[in-house]
Amino acid sequence: MATMLYTHPVFLEHMTPPGHPERPDRLRAIERVLEEDAFTDLVRVEAPEADEQTLTFAHPERHIDKIRTAIPETGIRSIDADTSVSPKSWEAAIRAVGAANAAVDDVFSGKADNVFIAARPPGHHAEKTTAMGFCLFNTAAIAARHAQRKHGAERVAIVDWDVHHGNGTQDIFWDDPSVLYCSTHQMPLYPGTGARDETGAGNIVNAPLSPRTGSDLFREAFRARVLPALDKFKPDLIIISAGFDAHHRDPLAEIYLTEEDFDWATGQLLDRAGKSAGNRLVSLLEGGYDLEGLSSSVSAHVRRMMRG
Ligand SMILES: [Zn+2]
Repeated sequence: MATMLYTHPVFLEHMTPPGHPERPDRLRAIERVLEEDAFTDLVRVEAPEADEQTLTFAHPERHIDKIRTAIPETGIRSIDADTSVSPKSWEAAIRAVGAANAAVDDVFSGKADNVFIAARPPGHHAEKTTAMGFCLFNTAAIAARHAQRKHGAERVAIVDWDVHHGNGTQDIFWDDPSVLYCSTHQMPLYPGTGARDETGAGNIVNAPLSPRTGSDLFREAFRARVLPALDKFKPDLIIISAGFDAHHRDPLAEIYLTEEDFDWATGQLLDRAGKSAGNRLVSLLEGGYDLEGLSSSVSAHVRRMMRG
């Protein structure tokens, strides 16, 4: 099994205001842990810039132009209360999308079985026409459409275990039954969407979790909602919106998962990818704001991917 890792130094140069949880140190913590001996066999690749045309797979031109023109010459400019851009944010966002698209190419060409993308900014809150929740473009959504358009994938599943609901991904695929979107997330919590009765064209599966949910109920939700939906859908590709802010140490939420839970969930998705998708699995970093919880969870997740 070959596991690839995409990252790029520019992901450290997307700046957010002082004290903001979505900060460059998150990626430094991940880089440090991925230097350990356990990861010697990871195939490391520099994230390429995306063909900008692929942004239109999920966003209209006016959204793309709005982000492009918001980029300041110096300093940091706010887009909303949580979301901001700095001079290098365009390149960072474009390379995050480029890495996701390249990862899709790699799993379809057989260069890799699975790929992890350590990038920022994250993407799952970005709706068709709205950047929000630290996100500019919806990387997972663009990569799913890239798989369909370039590689003929008929059914793509996006599994989102970030502790926040991926309102953006749900928005983009709301009426598109060729993409299954499954999310476990704390509710109530930002952004407020993700109730069980939000089902789109039958392709949206939300499994909201009450605050103070731990391992057992998380795994039960995964077994009862996410895995049966995947078994029925039989995706050609699984994309993970891999946020690690459901870790018990995370300051932004109150779900009490451990590294072992991320290891377990990764194993379940690898198993499903093996059954219907020729092992094809692409995982992209979304949230995760406690540096220790984040790095230990990424370590468990990527080690599991490498074991296949
Ligand atoms: Zn999150």
